[in-house]
Amino acid sequence: MANDYYMKDTSNDRQAECEWMIRTQIMSRDITNEAVINSMLSVPRHKFVMEDKQELAYYDTALEIEEEQTISQPYIVALMAQALELKANDKVLEIGTGSGYSAAILSRMARKVITIERHDLLAELAKERFRSQGYNNIDVLVGDGTLGWSEKAPFDAILVTAGGPKIPIPLIEQLALGGRLVIPVGDQGEQHLLRVKKTIDGELIEDNLGAVRFVPLIGTKGWNQDDVGNFS
Ligand code: SAH
Repeated sequence: MANDYYMKDTSNDRQAECEWMIRTQIMSRDITNEAVINSMLSVPRHKFVMEDKQELAYYDTALEIEEEQTISQPYIVALMAQALELKANDKVLEIGTGSGYSAAILSRMARKVITIERHDLLAELAKERFRSQGYNNIDVLVGDGTLGWSEKAPFDAILVTAGGPKIPIPLIEQLALGGRLVIPVGDQGEQHLLRVKKTIDGELIEDNLGAVRFVPLIGTKGWNQDDVGNFS
């Protein structure tokens, strides 16, 4: 293969910081799902942020990434991953690749992750991180994730990591029977993290997992680019 010379980098030279993060921010709160905890232990978060932010990668905070976007706070990633109730054979759609960190977390818990990002640069950086670190069950697509990806539907789980004014209907349609959708919905200042379960009879059951703050979901079924403050 053409890439045989390429050495995958699966080590974590900051493993102690990662374990500290799990102990003080994840297990000390309401995250009990072992698959989530193991996945977060195995993904080196500092390799998903810019070099000058690596010192802060395991802190209890969101961090700025390229294109004025953010990588979510570790606890929020864990909360979303737990709420998705993933099974090992699941096919997952993520909207908002960003750094690629949450997709990497999901990829350790599910069979396949398809992640959509609207910014070319972020998609390229994430692809390179997945390739160099050996995440080989993640597909990165560039486009408007508010429309989902009908060719690859249905999805057992869908995670939206940007906040929209309402739940995009295409995502509900592309959710498998028995599937789970997690999405922040609200105004641009604050959202509620909603989970929608589609029962095997096609009935929708919604619950609210609490207040969160995400960058805006921009697209046909999200915010209009012109209505969005300084974000782009
Ligand atoms: N999951 C990311 C968090 C990224 S922040 C991580 O772990 O780092 C949210 C991302 O959603 C941003 O990168 C933003 O560009 C992207 N985004 C916003 N609207 C989108 C849309 N309609 N389709 C795809 N990506 C979108």
